[in-house]
Amino acid sequence: MNIVLFGPPGAGKGTQAAYIRDKFSLCHISTGNLLRNEVAEGTPLGQRVSAIIDAGQLVSDDLMFEILEKRIKQQDCENGFILDGFPRTEVQAKGLDALLSKHGLTIDIAIIIVVEEEALVTRITGRFTCANCGAGYHDVFAPTAVAGVCDACGSTQFSRREDDKAETLKSRLAIYHEQTAPVLPHYKQKGILRSVDGMQSIDQVSTQIDSLVNELKQLT
Ligand code: AMP
Repeated sequence: MNIVLFGPPGAGKGTQAAYIRDKFSLCHISTGNLLRNEVAEGTPLGQRVSAIIDAGQLVSDDLMFEILEKRIKQQDCENGFILDGFPRTEVQAKGLDALLSKHGLTIDIAIIIVVEEEALVTRITGRFTCANCGAGYHDVFAPTAVAGVCDACGSTQFSRREDDKAETLKSRLAIYHEQTAPVLPHYKQKGILRSVDGMQSIDQVSTQIDSLVNELKQLT
């Protein structure tokens, strides 16, 4: 089963993708994470995209398809995948169909996580991660138990994504509305677009997604 998760930055795509990955044994493909890994490893691709990501702009389609195809072909995706952060433009949506059909695959369901705009700013600007083990936290919703100390590994070093700053978030949201939201009709026309209320608790959103995926499994 192959799933696409849609939603603006802060909708909870990463959190829900990790849930679906574990529940249905799929691989989680976050194109943002793939790019950030390239940057962290200092690869030539990472060096090319670093400033683009920090500015909240989109990386070129050519590069995106290159890393996506490489990832989809890996063994842990054999059972299917959840795309988080791809496609982000109509060109990417059409290109994705072509890429998948080349490999005899299709998207089975596209899920849009709907969140009110005002909630996104608080959600995004408050997030931070442990620089040592990568555990995720939030200033308001999920602080560390002891201030300044990672619950998971005890490290006192934390980092925040450069593109999570309020100013950059504005560009990311604008790009979402201008370029990514128009992709939704592509999946609606195929009859595979479903919507969940992302203003509920994380568990409630997971339960809703769970029923959508289970419904689909029963049909196939
Ligand atoms: P994300 O973690 O999904 O918020 O992605 C972080 C950043 O990675 C984005 O703001 C873009 O700069 C880049 N990025 C991730 N996915 C894509 C994509 N499908 N197309 C172009 N750029 C992307």
